[in-house]
Amino acid sequence: WTSETIAVVTGANRGIGFEIVHQLALHGLTVVLTSRDTGVGEEAAKVLQEGGLNVVFHQLDIVDPSSIEAFTEWIKQNYGGIDILINNAGVNYNAGSENSVESAEKVIATNYYGTKNMIKAMIPLMRPSDAGARIVNVSSKLGRLSGRRNVNDEALSEELIDQIMDTFLEQVKDGSWTDGGWPQVFTDYSLSKLAVNAYTRLMARIFSERPEGEKIYINCYCPGWVKTAMTGWAGHVSPEDGADTAVWLALLPEQFITGKFFSERREIHF
Ligand code: NDP
Repeated sequence: WTSETIAVVTGANRGIGFEIVHQLALHGLTVVLTSRDTGVGEEAAKVLQEGGLNVVFHQLDIVDPSSIEAFTEWIKQNYGGIDILINNAGVNYNAGSENSVESAEKVIATNYYGTKNMIKAMIPLMRPSDAGARIVNVSSKLGRLSGRRNVNDEALSEELIDQIMDTFLEQVKDGSWTDGGWPQVFTDYSLSKLAVNAYTRLMARIFSERPEGEKIYINCYCPGWVKTAMTGWAGHVSPEDGADTAVWLALLPEQFITGKFFSERREIHF
């Protein structure tokens, strides 16, 4: 990996995302630290730049199509393409089992649709290489199927995932979501991560059809319960350790692993 290797990290102004940028940059890559807020993003990038790291900032709000478009254009103009995409940006408003319609919509829109739209925007920019381009999705064990739904890989489609999310949001709106068989705690958040996991598996299948030299390897992982703003700094894992598996997956030499779910550098079941 050299400074010619370009990695993009979403939601990187703080927490796990910031640490992923830090650790990737320590490996000598050029890392694009993105944040929806320009001021805090620039500040965060400055901290790493002052440490001598090759970090550049660009604004990116993953729920705003015009922001994704402007970012894509900027990448094209400045680098021509990217090698690594880490989809870290996410929100979680669940303190318990209560779901407000607005927060459920925001969580699904950000964690699932935002991540998906970023992947779609970046695919044409992912540069061919022998090692393969890499996508890592920061997910959660809360999104594990654990036998709740049994969708085999052949049946998995983007339409099916979207439809499950839309049905869930309809049920949140009419108050019937508790009858839907969904998890009782962190429901919208868990569902959003379940969708991210399913989309990871789906894209791995689609990417596997690409010719040698143009492969894209995509995996997801759970960082553990991490001390960040999202958990009110209540987790037991440091952001440094929470970032570790993302960086490991992004940089694995000869990484022909794809469509898998990890925790602490080990594969776990979906
Ligand atoms: P933080 O809340 O500290 O960080 C979340 C980051 O995502 C922030 O930078 C936030 O920006 C950004 N973000 C939110 N919405 C958008 C958006 N629309 N566009 C761009 N960026 C956005 O939480 P963590 O660091 O803990 O979370 C990082 C990831 O890890 C998330 O995907 C989360 O679901 C996942 N995760 C975290 C766990 C934990 O225990 N902390 C456990 C399992 C998974 P802003 O500062 O502007 O709000």
